[in-house]
Amino acid sequence: MSDRLNPFAIAQAQLAEAAKVLELDPAVHEMLRWPLRELHVTLPVRMDDGIVKVFHGFRVQYNDARGPTKGGIRYHPDETIDTVRALSAWMTWKCAVVDIPLGGAKGGIICNPKEMSEGELERLSRAYIRQVGRIIGLEKDVPAPDVYTTPQIMAWMADEYAFLKGYNEFGVITGKPLELGGSQGRADATARGGLYTVREAAKVLGTELKGATAAVQGYGNAGSFAHSLGQELLELKVVAVSDSKGGILNWDGLDPEAVAAHKQKTGSVVGFAGAKKISNAELLELDVQVLFPAALENVITSENAGRIKAKISAELANGPTTPEADQILYKNGVYVIPDFLCNAGGVTVSYFEMCQNAYDYYWDLETVHQRLDRKMTAAFHAVHEMAQSYKVNNRVGAYLVSVARVAKAMKLRGWV
Ligand code: NAD
Repeated sequence: MSDRLNPFAIAQAQLAEAAKVLELDPAVHEMLRWPLRELHVTLPVRMDDGIVKVFHGFRVQYNDARGPTKGGIRYHPDETIDTVRALSAWMTWKCAVVDIPLGGAKGGIICNPKEMSEGELERLSRAYIRQVGRIIGLEKDVPAPDVYTTPQIMAWMADEYAFLKGYNEFGVITGKPLELGGSQGRADATARGGLYTVREAAKVLGTELKGATAAVQGYGNAGSFAHSLGQELLELKVVAVSDSKGGILNWDGLDPEAVAAHKQKTGSVVGFAGAKKISNAELLELDVQVLFPAALENVITSENAGRIKAKISAELANGPTTPEADQILYKNGVYVIPDFLCNAGGVTVSYFEMCQNAYDYYWDLETVHQRLDRKMTAAFHAVHEMAQSYKVNNRVGAYLVSVARVAKAMKLRGWV
């Protein structure tokens, strides 16, 4: 992977830009450039055909100055240690930007869950916890779902961890099913939180969202809820959506329930009746008001950034925009809501889940929504004001807010 597209090199470059503006102490900057700890694990798993296959996985604990680390586990064939490092760095900034008392971590396994049976996935997930179990825990590091990991996978992991400990410690993993200590409102929290920031962005930009056109890249947890909730909460007209197989477009709008039912039945949004097939590249360049990159990293680069026509790019995915592309979007007046702000709703409700598990007392859905809204709205305005006052783009603004908070915690602890 070239350095320009290596997510960890990108994360370090983004930090360097903020460090320059903040005139950060060089020792603080050097500490924040690297993960504190990382564990590489090798996982033998008996497959359904009786053959043992060996998988490789990671857990990276980036920085715990503000509290126990927190971050999802991703199952993906292209997973690399540098992707996990970058995601763990972004988790650090994300928890700081919404001001929850947690640090950042991330995990991953190199595998293709689409080609694995349910039994194989369960054995792989349990094998991961048998290795990683020694470094996670409610007061150490709390995993959660990410790309291609589900509440069921979290349930197997929480169960395996209970075997290791000899008792249930539900707070060790978030994103669990409700029956096993999950929180109300976790399933759609990432998209919902992102939509609250889009609502606030429209206010500061003086833009009307009712009936505004939108396109969503990626139709998993983040993307599919961006579609349905975008319509329900903000009255957006979502005209295009996509997944790994391609995209669909209908300028009259796409019905979220019908698209979800089609994907459920066929495995993809592609082929949905009454919509035109488009590529993922074309989707990004549509003349829409709001774009939601909600799939993977590096989809908006120096190559296509000049052709992005959206007024707002709400980054539900982590790392969708490269640093060169950021500069082009800023110059062209595209209002970017940066990833670790826009998608912080997921970790915020995961934190609520940890709190509820600790007290074994559960909140209703309305309480979760209200508290999420308060956190996201405050974080949005802190970032917007920082970016305005330093005359920098919103991503640098978000780094300025988060890095200052993490650096303060490190200073107070006497690390630097
Ligand atoms: P998911 O596994 O539920 O869905 C991923 C979706 O992306 C699928 O629809 C898949 O088909 C699609 N996809 C994969 N490759 C693609 C490609 N090349 N082009 C277009 N679509 C492609 O994952 P998710 O949880 O929705 O995560 C999506 C993004 O949101 C990731 O960057 C993730 O890190 C980020 N995120 C998720 C959460 C969360 O709570 N789920 C929280 C914060 C950030």
